[in-house]
Amino acid sequence: MVTRGCPQHCDFCYKDAFFQGGRGFYTQRVDDALAEIDRLPGRHLYFLDDRLLGDRRFGQSLFAGMRGMRRLFQGAATVDSILRGDLIERAAEAGLRRIFVGFETLNPGNLASSNKRQNLGLDYKAVTDRLHSLGVMINGSFVFGMDDDDQDVFSRTVDWAIGHGITTATFHIQTPYPGDSIVCAHA
Ligand code: SF4
Repeated sequence: MVTRGCPQHCDFCYKDAFFQGGRGFYTQRVDDALAEIDRLPGRHLYFLDDRLLGDRRFGQSLFAGMRGMRRLFQGAATVDSILRGDLIERAAEAGLRRIFVGFETLNPGNLASSNKRQNLGLDYKAVTDRLHSLGVMINGSFVFGMDDDDQDVFSRTVDWAIGHGITTATFHIQTPYPGDSIVCAHA
């Protein structure tokens, strides 16, 4: 992990409860992150960060430093961070080959009511097209059980995922945990 947490506050996410009383999002120093990566054995890395692209300046420096390290890695990112700017291209050049993406729901009402507003109005197909063009496999994250879901939500969501070439998918059941946050979805 080279970052902790996330600057967003989606209602269904574990994050706000987990980081209660602490800072919601911070990054390692780039030099320290690169030195740690360099110390790790093998070629493959799995970044467990909730939002690997959450800090643009950090990401630019990290991926620039990773170019030439001959690593292959996977991570997690939000829809908006994949569409914005060219950070995803820099990540792919640094060795990104698979990414967990928080699509969460195909229903705008669900996005609004769960405070996942950064996904509202964004073109999910543009996300899958961009990742496919970079040769990055997609692990799509979806949450079932939001207020605007109906009985068809399962087949509709799975059909969309298959139709858009999602490589693997994670389907979460929205579940209340003690406290004010629910379900362990991220990005
Ligand atoms: S679901 Fe993703 S974007 Fe939303 S708060 Fe959690 S980590 Fe951040």
